[in-house]
Amino acid sequence: MDDFIFVKPVERHPPCEGIEGGCTVCVQALPGAQADHQYVIDLGSRLGLGFQESKRQHCGQKSEYAGFQFDTVQGRLRVLPAKLPKMEECLQEWILSAFTTARALAKIRGKALHFSLGVHHLRVLVPEISLALGTESDPSDKKPEIDWDREVPTTDAMVELGRELLTVISKGAPLGVEMWPLHPSSLYGRFLRGRYGSAPLFVLTWDAGPNGYAGLLRWWGEGRGGSHELKELLLVGTWPADAEVQHQAHREILAACLATESAAQQVDLRNSVVLFRNDAEAAIAALRKGSFQSPVMHRSAMRLNRLLYRLEVVPRMWHVPGLALVAEGIDGASRAGGELGDECVDGVLGPAVGDELWEAINSELRRLGWSATIDLFATASNARCARYCSRTHEAGAERTDAFTMLDWSASDCPVCGLRHAEMVYAYPPTVMARKTVNKAMQDGARMALVVPLAVTAPHWQKLLRFSVVDNADRYLRVRNARASVRHGSPHDPNELAVFVCDFRSAADASDLSSVAGCPGAVARRVRGQCGGGRDEEDRRRLQEELLRLVAEDGPKGVQG
Ligand SMILES: [Zn+2]
Ligand SMILES: [Zn+2]
Repeated sequence: MDDFIFVKPVERHPPCEGIEGGCTVCVQALPGAQADHQYVIDLGSRLGLGFQESKRQHCGQKSEYAGFQFDTVQGRLRVLPAKLPKMEECLQEWILSAFTTARALAKIRGKALHFSLGVHHLRVLVPEISLALGTESDPSDKKPEIDWDREVPTTDAMVELGRELLTVISKGAPLGVEMWPLHPSSLYGRFLRGRYGSAPLFVLTWDAGPNGYAGLLRWWGEGRGGSHELKELLLVGTWPADAEVQHQAHREILAACLATESAAQQVDLRNSVVLFRNDAEAAIAALRKGSFQSPVMHRSAMRLNRLLYRLEVVPRMWHVPGLALVAEGIDGASRAGGELGDECVDGVLGPAVGDELWEAINSELRRLGWSATIDLFATASNARCARYCSRTHEAGAERTDAFTMLDWSASDCPVCGLRHAEMVYAYPPTVMARKTVNKAMQDGARMALVVPLAVTAPHWQKLLRFSVVDNADRYLRVRNARASVRHGSPHDPNELAVFVCDFRSAADASDLSSVAGCPGAVARRVRGQCGGGRDEEDRRRLQEELLRLVAEDGPKGVQG
C-alpha cells in the first residue's frame, strides 16, 4: 500500500462555499479532522511505516491524486492545472512537426485517455488516435510485431485531430466532471418526479427501424400560467440516401445523431445534461467511448460528440431494454406506427417517384434547360434535390412543411446573397394537390409536379394552361402508378400525371431574380441550432420579410 486518503464526514448541510468560503459548518469539522490526522501520523511513526512528509497533503476539501483534483465542495473532478501545459506542449509539438513516432503518439493517447476521466467530450476522441496508429496496443504490451520507433507522418487529418484534442481539453479541463454522478436510472427516476436539481435536463429516448428513426425528447418547462410541466417532442425522420444503415447497431447510433440534430434545431439544448436512452448496447458503448473496431459507428460517435461539444451538453448514456422502447411507443414510431401521435417513419416515407419516372421528369426539364432546385415534399431518404422540405422535422431539410416557404419562385441565396430563381419539384400528398397548384400560381413559380390524373379536378385546367410539356396531352401520363412510385399507399390513384408548368406570367408581380451559375442555388441550406445567434437572426429576417409582404400585398397575399 502506498497512498492513503482519510475521510472525515461533515454534518449534512446545504451547498456551501466550503472552508475556503468560510462555511461555519465545514470550519467546525476542521479541528477534529486535524486531530485525527495527527493521530494517524503518530501511529505511523510508532509502527515505523515511514510516511513521506514531502508528499503529505493537509486536511482540506480539495485533495489531489493521480493528476486530478477531487473538489468535494463542488463535487467535481478536475485535471490538475499543473498537468495541462505538458499535454498542450506534446500536442503542439505533434501538430507542428512533419513526423512523430508511433511511441510518441501512443503516449499522447495514454494521456488523453487518463485526462478523459475529468474532461467531457474527450473519451470519444481517443480511438481516433488508435485509428491513426492502426492499433489499440500500447508499447507496454510488448508486442514484438509492432515497431514503436517507426515514423508516423503528420497528415492534415492528424493536425485537425490534434487541434480538436487541444480545444476540447482547454475548454473542458477547468470545468471538470461530476464526482458523484447519479446512476442514469436514478437520474431518470428523479426526472420523472420532477425533482432532479436545477440544471436543465433533457431525456432523449430513441429507436431505429429499417427505414428511419423515432425519438422522444422530454423535459420540464413552463406551461400555461407558469406551471411546471413535462413537455415532449416527437422526432421522426428517415435515413439519408447515403447513410450506412446495413446493421442495426449502425442505425441506432446514426439515429442518435439525427434525432439530436433535429432536437437541437427545435429546442435550446445548450448547457444542459441530456440523458440518452436506447436499447442497443453496442451503440451506447460507442457513443460513450468511440469505437476502434467499427469505423462506421466511430464516425457517428464523433459526429454526435462534436455536436454536444458545441452545444456544451453533458451526455449521459443509458442502455435500456428494447421492451421499454416498445412499451413507450418509440419502437412503433420508428416503424409503422404506434401510440405516439400521427407520425411514424413508414407514414412519411412516401409516396416518392421511382428512378425511372424521375428520369422521365428530368429529361423533360433538360429539354427546357431547367433543373430542379428544391424538392418540396420529401424526406431525407427520398429527396431528389440536396435542398428539400420535409414533413417531419429532419435536420437535413431546409424546412419542415413547404407551405411555410414564403415564395416558391425565388429565394435569397446564403452563398452569394443574391436572389435566385427557383425551379421547384413537387409530389404532394393527394389532398394537397390543389393547394400546391394555387400557391405555385400565386408565387409565379416554375414547377415540375406529380399529381393524380384527374381531369375533372378544379386545378386541372390551370395546369394545362401553364404547362410547357411538349406533347399533345401537355402532360406525361403515368399509367401504372404503383410500378412507378415507391412507398405509396393503398389509397393512391391508379394513374398519375406529370406537369411541368411555368407560372411566371400568372403572378401579378415577378421578382427580378438571377439564376447565375451560383452553387448556392442548389446546395443544401443548413438550418441553425435553436438558441444560437443565427437562429434568432433567421427569425428576425423572416419576420421582416413577412411584414414587408403583408405591407405590399395585404394579408391575403401571404400563404401558410
Ligand atoms: Zn459547508
Ligand atoms: Zn448564390
